[in-house]
Amino acid sequence: MHFFRYRNGELYAEDVPVRELAEAYGTPLYIYSYSTLLRHFRAYDNAFDGVPHIICFALKANSNTSVLRLFAKNGGGADVVSGGEIFRALKAGIPPRKIVYAGVGKTEKEIRFALKSRILMFNVESESELMEIDRIAGVMKVKAPISLRVNPDIDPGTHPYIATGLKEHKFGIPIEAAFEYYKLAERLENTEIVGIHKHIGSQITKVSPFVDALKKTLLLVDELKEHGVDIRYFDIGGGLGITYKDEEPPVPRDLARSLLPLLRGRRLTIIMEPGRSIVGNAGILVTKVLYLKKGEEKDFVIVDAGMNDLIRPSFYGAYHHIQPVEKKRRKNILADIVGPICESGDFLGKEREMPDVKPREYLAVMSAGAYGFTMSSNYNSRPRAAEVMVKGKDFSLVNKRETYRDLVRGEVVPGFL
Ligand SMILES: *Cc1c(COP(=O)(O)O)cnc(C)c1O
Repeated sequence: MHFFRYRNGELYAEDVPVRELAEAYGTPLYIYSYSTLLRHFRAYDNAFDGVPHIICFALKANSNTSVLRLFAKNGGGADVVSGGEIFRALKAGIPPRKIVYAGVGKTEKEIRFALKSRILMFNVESESELMEIDRIAGVMKVKAPISLRVNPDIDPGTHPYIATGLKEHKFGIPIEAAFEYYKLAERLENTEIVGIHKHIGSQITKVSPFVDALKKTLLLVDELKEHGVDIRYFDIGGGLGITYKDEEPPVPRDLARSLLPLLRGRRLTIIMEPGRSIVGNAGILVTKVLYLKKGEEKDFVIVDAGMNDLIRPSFYGAYHHIQPVEKKRRKNILADIVGPICESGDFLGKEREMPDVKPREYLAVMSAGAYGFTMSSNYNSRPRAAEVMVKGKDFSLVNKRETYRDLVRGEVVPGFL
């Protein structure tokens, strides 16, 4: 459910016409709906009401400060994968005690920053990382709170690039070996075991992989308990899918209904790390049609947003619904919707049956709130898009469009030139 709807043939973001925003701020433009963000965040929070829990939003899906501030104000935490994301989370007002830190390649600088910030826990992905965190904590004379990210070897049935919980993946510690790693962690002087973590992939559209992975991981929690290792935080990861086209993913309540019976009475605080399912359908990318190019077999609709603004179609072959901001009666054409970038892989949609749109008209690329702006780049020296948030009739710029000057900020020409 989201708040981007047509009224009298005109697309609105909540109570504001999308066209007005596009005219005021230019295109390409990301628009986020406050009410959708809040509704999705609360859907998780309410679903897991029966147990102590923290909803740690996965920053990599959308790390705009205002988006994060909204979650912070509603009790949300953060799942981060870099020092930069810790910085953003703290800046947005997320309490350090609600920050969990995953990622296979944490650097010394990042580990120091996380320890200094007193985050809730490191989700450790390998033995050498565990040793490094312990060493750095020793130097800093602090105790590092850790959980191990276990890889439960569960197929989430999703795109290979976004599956993370199989043996072949670089993520986590194989579940068979995790017990030994916990015993090792127990012997480390500057490390305190506080939790366990798993995250099996993204855009998962069934409940069963979550149930299977949870059951498998709970066996390990029980085994650890028998051996005196007390797990307080169980981080069940993120990964719930959304509707891009015709998927019918479970909602947080469906997930909770299956998972909570397995978790009750265990004195665990549950951590969830949703990203896409909170922000995905809470954002759209608005782009302007520049040119039409008629072809023999299909047409090309050339727009002012490219793969540098939204890389998901090029990168994963992902589908995003693309619709005109002004709905009118007209004939359909078969077209590729392509950007201005000099790459054949630069497209937003391929072979779409779509209305016969005209130059200068606006199109909305739907479900672009997750992994949209955060994956954008300056390729082809294109300044990054602006971001706007709408709340009812109210709206505000939440990130300025980059300028040409921004493109060269930080570049230095050496004296020998
Ligand atoms: C990417 C990621 C998430 C969020 O995944 P979504 O599919 O966006 O919900 C959560 N946890 C970890 C460790 C991740 O890497």
